[in-house]
Amino acid sequence: MKYRLLSKLRSSLILIFLFASGLVVSNLAYSGDDNSGFNQLQEILISYGFVVKQEIPPKIDNSGLRPYGLMNSKTKTIWINPVVFELGNAQAVLVHEAVHAAQNCAGEGQMSLLNLDLEPPQFTRPYFMRYHSYRREIEAEAYTVQVQTDSLAIAIKLLEQHCS
Ligand SMILES: [Zn+2]
Repeated sequence: MKYRLLSKLRSSLILIFLFASGLVVSNLAYSGDDNSGFNQLQEILISYGFVVKQEIPPKIDNSGLRPYGLMNSKTKTIWINPVVFELGNAQAVLVHEAVHAAQNCAGEGQMSLLNLDLEPPQFTRPYFMRYHSYRREIEAEAYTVQVQTDSLAIAIKLLEQHCS
């Protein structure tokens, strides 16, 4: 699944700059009321030149909803919908967007797969199977990292590997 669509679809996908984390429901990962992990990851993203805005994302996703998180890969801007702090999944949403940030670094401004050693857990499939083609593989990586028990550490490592 990782390589076969890459060359064919990359050129068309470059036109899609906005990557939304959409329907990340809070039961995918509960990070609680302690925002220290969120704050740490936010600082690291900023140190790599990303802008993190705790604002309602300026796009509606393909379900007609405001996504929980969104990244514009061209401007390296990440929006985190403030509602996620109430839902208790702010860290998981930022981890998801941080994976997209690492993908952005890996592709030097285009989204590129990180080729993780992790396989998507079965229960994450509905979240990325609603996407198509290369975008599906990009999202599969973000959801796969997001649901790991050490997701924060993995996201930080991916940023180090691809953005330094
Ligand atoms: Zn995503």
